[in-house]
Parts: sequence; C-alpha cells; structure tokens
Amino acid sequence: MNRHQPVAIVGAGIAGLTAALSFARKGISSEIFERTAVLNEAGAGLQLSPNATRILTKLGLLPQLQTVWSEPQAITLVDGVSLKPLASVPSGEFARNRWSAPYGVLHRADLQKILIDAVRANPLCRLHLGVEIDETARHGIAQITGNEPRILIGADGVWSKARQRIEGAGTAAFSGNVAWRFTLSETEAPAFFDTTKVSAFLGSGSHLVVYPMQRARSFNVVAITSGADPGKSWDNTLPPEISRQRLLEAFSGWHAQIIDLLRHVVEPTVWPLYQVNDGAWNQGENVVLIGDAAHAMMPFAAQGAAMAIEDAFELASFLTAGKPLSAFADHRKTRIARVRSRGAFNRFAYHARGPVRLGRDLVLSLRRPESLAADFDWLYGYEPKD
Ligand SMILES: Cc1cc2nc3c(=O)[nH]c(=O)nc-3n(C[C@H](O)[C@H](O)[C@H](O)COP(=O)(O)OP(=O)(O)OC[C@H]3O[C@@H](n4cnc5c(N)ncnc54)[C@H](O)[C@@H]3O)c2cc1C
Repeated sequence: MNRHQPVAIVGAGIAGLTAALSFARKGISSEIFERTAVLNEAGAGLQLSPNATRILTKLGLLPQLQTVWSEPQAITLVDGVSLKPLASVPSGEFARNRWSAPYGVLHRADLQKILIDAVRANPLCRLHLGVEIDETARHGIAQITGNEPRILIGADGVWSKARQRIEGAGTAAFSGNVAWRFTLSETEAPAFFDTTKVSAFLGSGSHLVVYPMQRARSFNVVAITSGADPGKSWDNTLPPEISRQRLLEAFSGWHAQIIDLLRHVVEPTVWPLYQVNDGAWNQGENVVLIGDAAHAMMPFAAQGAAMAIEDAFELASFLTAGKPLSAFADHRKTRIARVRSRGAFNRFAYHARGPVRLGRDLVLSLRRPESLAADFDWLYGYEPKD
C-alpha cells in the first residue's frame, strides 16, 4: 500500500484506536473519526486475556496497563446454588509463563484512556472527535482532511454504518440473552467475592461473572440471563423496580447470598446482547470492517475486545505486506469462527440444567487445573501476523 496516503478509521472504540496505533507502528498515518464529542466512561469491566495483552505489549502499552489493572490468580467456576467451586484455571504468573503474556482485569474506560493518550501522543494519528461518518463516508472524509483516504476501516461497533457500504455484509440480530451490569465497592461486596480471582457463578439459564477492578477498589459484576429484546440502545434502562424484579426472577433458586446481593443492587442496568452474523467484511479494496462492526459476539468467552484488538493489529500487518483485504477477512474469519464456537460451548455448559449440569460438574471435577489451562492454548497463545 502507499505509505504516504493515510487510512481513515471510523470509530474510536477499542478496535479503532488499536488500529490507529498498529498502522502507526508500521509507519502509516491515520485519520480517526469518532461521533462522540467527549470520550467518557463507557461500559464497565473488561477481562484482557493474553492473546490481547501480547498485542498491547507490542504496541508499548504494558507499563501503562500495569498501573490500572490487576492480574487475577485464577479464573474459577463456582456452582451458583451451593457456592461450591467446580473448576479453576490458574492465571497470574502461570498465565505469563504458559502464554508468555499476562491476563488482566480493568475498567474499560481505563483501557480506552490508555489507547487515546497513545493515539494523541503519536504524530501519525489524527483524532477527529464529534464527527459522525455516514454511508457517504469517503466523500465527507475528503472534505474534512483534504485527502481521499486510501481505505476506510469501519470500527464503528455493532450498529456500524460502514457495514451498510458492503454488499453481502452480516446483520445485527438479538441473541436472546441480556447482560445486567453493575459495580459493588469492596466494602459492600459479600465475603465470597474474591479480590484475587475472576469468578463465574453458574446456574440453570443464567450465570454471573465477578472480578475486581483494582483502581476503583470495586468489583465488576455481569449477570447474563435470557431475556426479551429491550430495543436498539445498549444503555436502555427500565424503571429500577421492574429491572430488579426481572433480575431476581432469572436467579430464583440460586444461593440465598446471591439473591440477597441482587435484591440490593441500586440500579441494575440491562444491556441487550446482539451478534453480527456471518457476511462479507470488505468491499473490494475500499472498505473493511473490524471489531464488533464485523463480528459482534456474545460475551461467553470474554473475547469481543480481544478479537477487536487482534483484527486491528493483523489488518495493519496484512495491508503493509501488500495482501488483499479478502485475504485478511478469510484469515480472521477462521479465527472468529473458532472463538464463536468456544463461546457457544460455554453458553451451553454455563447455563446447563438437570442431567447435563450434573454431567458437566462431574467432568469438571475430574480435570486438573493444568489440563483445563491446556484447553486455552490455541486461544491465549495465539501469535498474530506481524
Ligand atoms: C456484558 C459484556 C461483557 C463483555 N466483556 C468482555 C470481556 O471481558 N473481554 C472482552 O474482550 N470483551 C468483552 N466484551 C466485548 C467488548 O466490550 C466489545 O467486543 C468491544 O468493546 C468492541 O469494540 P469496538 O471498538 O469494535 O466497538 P465499540 O466499542 O462499540 O466502538 C465503536 C465506536 O464507534 C463510534 N461510532 C459508531 N458509529 C459511528 C459513526 N457513524 N461515525 C463515527 N463514529 C461512530 C462509537 O461512538 C464508538 O466509540 C463484553 C461485552 C459485553 C456486552
């Protein structure tokens, strides 16, 4: 590709900002357009697995990340009815040794700030805030920057407008699941919340993931249940009383301490979970999608942001190696399909009922932690094309 012609990136989320830094690392400048005028605290907690942190390390961001995240000692699965531990995958130093990169948990806003600071400090990256790019994108971009971009990268999330410019692209569809997200300060959290672990509490039709956010001295809590589609917006809020009632219904029969905890959540906020199904990711050599715009997925494998980071990094590698966008898309789709199937398996196993649940618990109880860790080698040990 012509190294002197900038790329245009639509969206300054995790995918877009990582793409700008990855292109800059290869000596290519970018113009990044973000519709929000002020980038504020969006979302809640985020788990960053070693496949993502390996890339963020290559981008020079590990020292900053280490000041805002914590590295859990283990990822544990716990029965949500009895609070009995079912299985544990070691993390912490074990992750650094086995997958040659750390596993961290942090607030999404902290990651976004680190990425934005790095973008702002890089002379090859130009960030335009408060600029919404619509379907007639390239034209509008040339008016703002004075240049026709070499390529338009749609990193504009699940409701991507860039996607509408691609023939045969996938569409966003409601998954049938919703996520409830809230935080609890360390002082108000129940004693069974562990500051050294990511804990996934499993039950019939629902699960609850809890992990510490060191800097805020709080826990991030995500409850995933089945639910009706509350509409297109991600921060849709129901009246708190109705919201709480639905949350409690989804967890009825769970351990009394968990029910008690949910009963006292001040403002449970429900997020509908949408997926973008398979479809084309590129239009010739002009437009390409990355991150949620291409493949928004369920959070059952906690890999959405990690996949956005991998997409962004590998796109810069493919383009600088002179490869066509179709080669990038084919390469990434194989990886995404495997991650999606891991997510689908987790969905089945986490929410299992009756005999399937008993079988799951028995199988898990027989697995050694190292053997469970080996299941993640293909995912966490991934070496991106550089
Ligand atoms: C409950 C839950 C838990 C999760 N937990 C994890 C986890 O632990 N680990 C993990 O890896 N992933 C997790 N994820 C997934 C992860 O949050 C997403 O996959 C990731 O944030 C997607 O990043 P993105 O940059 O592709 O999209 P987004 O974050 O949606 O960013 C898109 C950006 O584009 C901007 N934009 C949109 N349209 C336009 C336009 N027309 N013009 C200009 N700008 C525009 C938006 O304002 C936004 O800033 C979770 C998701 C959920 C729902």
